Amino acid sequence: MLIETTGQGKRIPRIDFHIHPGICTFMQPWVVEWYNRNLPVKFDEFIEQYKDPGFFEEFLTREGVDYACVLVEQSYVTTGVTTNDQVRDYCRGRRRLIPFCDVNPALYARPGEELRRLVEEEGFRGVKLYPTYQHFYLNESRIYPIYQAARDLGIPVLIHTGSSVFRGARLKYGDPLHLDDVAVDFPDLPLIMAHSGRGFWYDRAFFLSRLHENVYMEVSGLPPARLLDYFPELPRNTQKVIFGSDWPGMFYIKRNMEAIAALPLDAESVDNILGGNAARILKLEGYQ
Ligand SMILES: [Zn+2]
Repeated sequence: MLIETTGQGKRIPRIDFHIHPGICTFMQPWVVEWYNRNLPVKFDEFIEQYKDPGFFEEFLTREGVDYACVLVEQSYVTTGVTTNDQVRDYCRGRRRLIPFCDVNPALYARPGEELRRLVEEEGFRGVKLYPTYQHFYLNESRIYPIYQAARDLGIPVLIHTGSSVFRGARLKYGDPLHLDDVAVDFPDLPLIMAHSGRGFWYDRAFFLSRLHENVYMEVSGLPPARLLDYFPELPRNTQKVIFGSDWPGMFYIKRNMEAIAALPLDAESVDNILGGNAARILKLEGYQ
């Protein structure tokens, strides 16, 4: 078995699968307002510091995070834009920062080809889809070239599912059920449901991750202490659950990891959720 529990051998890395970096081209004012209302710090002040990836890595060290997936977002009308180039440069030469690109299907005539280029030439190691922010269904034919390319490239697809608090986001596109088609058509492609269907689709997300070997739940943006309320059978499915914070939306990563470790789960399950499952999906050294 590849994944060993802490204390019996290899230490399982701690991985945050869902980070928005402190860099952007622009952010919609309602996003900045939301951060100012919900974060323990003033947005303008902290974001200036976190533009420096070295500062961010020090923060990760303090929070006990070994690796973080850093997400591009090109959601012009709903949240804002952090470009592929910005995240490529932010993560360059930094082993712990794992860049995920965004090939918004409204921006590229051939999103599959663009994804191939971003992975093969720019070093991206995953792709994030934003259906609620960019207004497409996950099982539309125009999205299929993205899945095809990701499958050929051997990279995971992280997908926003469930609710979004920001203006202009449309919930209907966040239904995880649309992923059923994709999971059937691409059985070897890791599909990771960010927020696990947040809102009223928790049961769907859970069921899909049980049904399909390649579908995973990612729990960013959910209060960790409530996970067993949302997913009463979670202890039976811990090899399919992945930790993420949605930083800076959830500002204290360590606190959230500790809250998961405090759930009534065995040590191996906690290790799987906080990094073991992600390490395998990301093919980190020693986990391929
Ligand atoms: Zn997010």
